[in-house]
Amino acid sequence: MNSNIVYCEICREDVSCNVENIPETQTFKGEDIQFIATVAKCDKCNGNVFVGEFMEDNLKRLYDAYRVKNDIISLEHICEIPIKYGIGKRPLSLLLGWGELTFTRYCDGDMPTKQYSNILNRVYNDPSYYLSFLESNKSILTAVAYKKSERAVQGLLEKSKPNSITIYLDEGIREEFDVFCENVGISVATAFNIFIRATLRTRTLPFSITDAPTSTNEKLVNEN
Ligand SMILES: [Zn+2]
Repeated sequence: MNSNIVYCEICREDVSCNVENIPETQTFKGEDIQFIATVAKCDKCNGNVFVGEFMEDNLKRLYDAYRVKNDIISLEHICEIPIKYGIGKRPLSLLLGWGELTFTRYCDGDMPTKQYSNILNRVYNDPSYYLSFLESNKSILTAVAYKKSERAVQGLLEKSKPNSITIYLDEGIREEFDVFCENVGISVATAFNIFIRATLRTRTLPFSITDAPTSTNEKLVNEN
């Protein structure tokens, strides 16, 4: 055990103390929650001495244990969501149909209800679930914010799906194709799917590919 010097209110002096990790049970939201608490005991009187950082740690462990026991999403996972999906906390909250500051409060450590936690858990684990919120509520985002988040989700979807294909396109081509898809009302992924399905259905590419001279080339050749 570590030995630290702290002020003991019983002995009224600085004393060395023993730090111990002990099982503790506390009531939180009407439930008895068991967790491992870190306590410091005065070496002289064996009374508990106050160490601020232990109080904070213990509170976090109590909350963590409550989350585990009730299958509530962890604070770490909550805070990862806006980073994962390239979205701000407030817009995310609005996308989910919540109050503007609800998500921020959860990020600050507020305990979500089971119902809200289930949504957060699914959003965290399933990019396509998040994408459904992004697509249905995109009108509340600026075009730039929407695009940024959409790119982030598509990137995650490509990585998470073993059947995905990553294609590198020449500069400008992707943007041009994005605009085309937007104009005809389909996503880039849908456009590629249409192309692939058409190819498989007819067992041929949906346009001709040939290395024979084109009519323009023939003309040029003939002219020479
Ligand atoms: Zn003491």
